[in-house]
Amino acid sequence: MISKIALTLFMGLSMLFLCSCKNNSVLSKDCETCEGEGYVMETCPDCDGNGYLVVTCRNCDGDGYFRCNWCSGTGRDECSSCDGTGYRACSRCNGSGRNYEGYSCYSCGGTGRESCFFCSGRGYDECSNCSGSGRLECGDCDGYGKVKVECSKCEGEGKVKQTCEDCDGEGKVSVFK
Ligand SMILES: [Zn+2]
Ligand SMILES: [Zn+2]
Ligand SMILES: [Zn+2]
Ligand SMILES: [Zn+2]
Ligand SMILES: [Zn+2]
Ligand SMILES: [Zn+2]
Repeated sequence: MISKIALTLFMGLSMLFLCSCKNNSVLSKDCETCEGEGYVMETCPDCDGNGYLVVTCRNCDGDGYFRCNWCSGTGRDECSSCDGTGYRACSRCNGSGRNYEGYSCYSCGGTGRESCFFCSGRGYDECSNCSGSGRLECGDCDGYGKVKVECSKCEGEGKVKQTCEDCDGEGKVSVFK
């Protein structure tokens, strides 16, 4: 009776011993997840893998355009020949409205003025700096108001190294034989 118990105990112990012996025969092999590198490349969370970020243009504060200083944004350049009036003194009667005989000047109809030749009577010209638009496109963002900047987290790669979770960055995993 006693010997039977002892035998069972012995069998049990030896099984335990064999088991632990099996568990101890550990080999390591390259981690398949990271191919032994210890890290995996993952999409950069800062730029969603684009490699760049779209930010407000600092040059124009996001407006995309600057007001033209030449024309104060009006797009018009006052005609210096007529001071913006569109008229000049009639060249035939010198602005008097009358000819040397005292009659009404036929050239200006007695008004003493004629349409300004330089601005076609408009009183202004299109601002040559902004082509009449009154604004200038921001050279940094081409009028878009936003610019792309390289993502500093991934240095423009769009991907960042992440420690491999499967091998804790070791690059090797244990296999039981
Ligand atoms: Zn790994
Ligand atoms: Zn005249
Ligand atoms: Zn003019
Ligand atoms: Zn202008
Ligand atoms: Zn800009
Ligand atoms: Zn990035």
